[in-house]
Amino acid sequence: MDLQYTILTYPDPQLRQISQPVEEITDEVREKTLALFPAMYADNGIGLAAPQVGWHARVFVVNVTGKPEDELAFINPEITERSGGLWSFEEGCLSLPGIRGKVKRERKITLKGTDLEGKPIELSADGLVARCILHEFDHLDGILFIDRLSPAKRQSIKRRLRELEAEAAV
Ligand SMILES: [Zn+2]
Repeated sequence: MDLQYTILTYPDPQLRQISQPVEEITDEVREKTLALFPAMYADNGIGLAAPQVGWHARVFVVNVTGKPEDELAFINPEITERSGGLWSFEEGCLSLPGIRGKVKRERKITLKGTDLEGKPIELSADGLVARCILHEFDHLDGILFIDRLSPAKRQSIKRRLRELEAEAAV
């Protein structure tokens, strides 16, 4: 299987679908998950969720440094703890090209999930890794970072959103 993903962009309605839990971690699931990394690197991303490539499974990958040892893959993740208060930082998204904006998120999180071997994992993260995980986790529920912008900022990106809508309509 040679998977070449295309990353879906706004306003593709598939980005708004709720993703479903993975029932069994098969070789196919492993391959489809690992194939998210090259798709993410090709667009210089630091995280990519399965629904962004049209696979509506609760799966995402993260790598905030780009180093191989920092690759993280999560299957059926749950955020079990959020703490440390909110902090604001500029985000972008491979599904929203040309848009950036500050989003408030919790500083620290704990995530439980399953790794590619089907073993339970628990990870505590803070800072950029926590932010990236929360951003990707949102994708599994059809939430985009633009939904979390301030009303003023949301107003300021309206023109760019309309451009993306027009491009999609062609
Ligand atoms: Zn995103």
